[in-house]
Amino acid sequence: MSNGFLYAEPTRGRSFLAAGVSVFVAAVSLDTPDLLRIAVLLMALPLVSAWVVARTRYRLSSSRNLSSARTPAVTRGAGLVVAVGSDGRPDPTRASEVRDAVALLLETGELPLRAGRPAAGSVALVGGGPGDPELITVRGRRLLAEADVVVVDRLAPRVLLDRLDPSVEVVDVGKVPHGAGPTQQQISALLVDRARAGKRVVRLKGGDPFVLGRGGEEVAACVRAGVPVTVVPGVSSAIAGPAAAGIPVTHRGVAADFAVVSGHVEPPPGGAPDHAPDRADGAARESSGSVIDWQALADGPATLVLLMALDRVGAAAAELVKRGRPGSTPVAVVRRATLPDQQVLVATLDTVAAAVADAGLRPPAVVVVGEVVGLRDRLWAGSPPS
Ligand code: SAH
Repeated sequence: MSNGFLYAEPTRGRSFLAAGVSVFVAAVSLDTPDLLRIAVLLMALPLVSAWVVARTRYRLSSSRNLSSARTPAVTRGAGLVVAVGSDGRPDPTRASEVRDAVALLLETGELPLRAGRPAAGSVALVGGGPGDPELITVRGRRLLAEADVVVVDRLAPRVLLDRLDPSVEVVDVGKVPHGAGPTQQQISALLVDRARAGKRVVRLKGGDPFVLGRGGEEVAACVRAGVPVTVVPGVSSAIAGPAAAGIPVTHRGVAADFAVVSGHVEPPPGGAPDHAPDRADGAARESSGSVIDWQALADGPATLVLLMALDRVGAAAAELVKRGRPGSTPVAVVRRATLPDQQVLVATLDTVAAAVADAGLRPPAVVVVGEVVGLRDRLWAGSPPS
């Protein structure tokens, strides 16, 4: 478009430009004269007659609601430009309110955002949060709405899938613990394959993709294959799980640090000798090669958060007590945190295994060890979230 418009104030000029209209200056304000403004004024002199004509057609006013000149309210997002203008009587306030509402819907993925034409394929590793569908990030939600393919984990917020268009391919790679399911290599290969076919792939994961979520391996596979990949952080169950039970992982005067530990690792058989001659004696090695130093955990961070630990919570607790944590240290187990059927159990290192067995608790659960567990009652005056 190359329409000329009378333009009296920078804000309005910018919105013309944003709408793709070319703007020329027909009059400039001299309220803060400087060289630039004077130069522009001189350039604009031949256009003064246009200004006079236009002035008769548009009532100019610094009040947006009195001016009769029309400029669309513009927003950009998700690869779209949306311009909202009023029909009939100019009503810029309403136009910009509607523009803002559309902008929010674009941002949060509430509109049909899938590309109509094939795009370059890509993969986004999206942290879905601990389970409550409201705990995904705004960006994660938008990418989900844009996705052609969604590859989903068992602990991802699956209710979000109900809102996807039926033509979206949903691949469930959720593994039951210790059960059969696709291997990590197969999952990575699937992501690469779909992206290479020009699909926008969302890999929807529980919590945060980089917290015990094997996100790094998937990123590496995409990078190796030359597939564009992004990571959208998520609210990890390691922090949100305790929080959902009313337990802050740190608290002034109680705990200034916390460690997140995979309980997927067997504590070392028979415990460690008093003077471990080398690290291997006090450490348990995960199949991937990572090492858990149980002695450092027993001595170390005030708060421990164990993930994937419910099955072996007794062994982990015994290991910590053997290495010096008092058996009376409070422990909370938060099962299905943030979901409607969340359960919370409070015990101590000495009693947690029996308490979990008695209650028949099943995964998924986070186990929180440390004095912060006592805050559950103290902070909430006896009525913590349950
Ligand atoms: N990336 C995830 C963790 C994956 S490991 C995150 O950042 O949250 C899987 C473990 O996470 C489960 O075994 C359990 O310990 C924990 N977990 C995930 N969602 C949970 C939930 N809603 N409630 C309790 N624990 C949860």
